[in-house]
Amino acid sequence: MSERPLPARGRPAPVPDRDSAAWWERLARHEFAVQRCGSCGAARFPPRAFCPECRGEGGDWEPVEPVGTVESWIVNHQAFGFGGAEPYVVVMVRLAAVPGCFAYGNWRGDREPRGGEAVLGVYTRVDQELSLLDWRPAG
Ligand SMILES: [Zn+2]
Repeated sequence: MSERPLPARGRPAPVPDRDSAAWWERLARHEFAVQRCGSCGAARFPPRAFCPECRGEGGDWEPVEPVGTVESWIVNHQAFGFGGAEPYVVVMVRLAAVPGCFAYGNWRGDREPRGGEAVLGVYTRVDQELSLLDWRPAG
């Protein structure tokens, strides 16, 4: 996985909350993980306190490969978050590891994404505490 430097903290950054703090810590170590319910075994993403399948609490973190397919995307013309130079593309990725769940991130391809194409996660380090999961074409 390649890294792409970004200007540090000049823009609004993600704010970890009770449910996502452990996920952001893992992402800062360049590990993509989903939660696995301890009661019914269902995987879930994004992080949350309760299993959407059985309403059970808790569960374990499970590292998975950050792979999926492009579900949709937008071309952003305003400077929100860590997109970099405007305009930039934000993709919605259907995760292979968690059926029915999606991740969002900046597009790191050198062309616009294509619907349904296979993509790989790319870790982008912002600083010591924050990395982002961006996406690029697979292969
Ligand atoms: Zn469950």
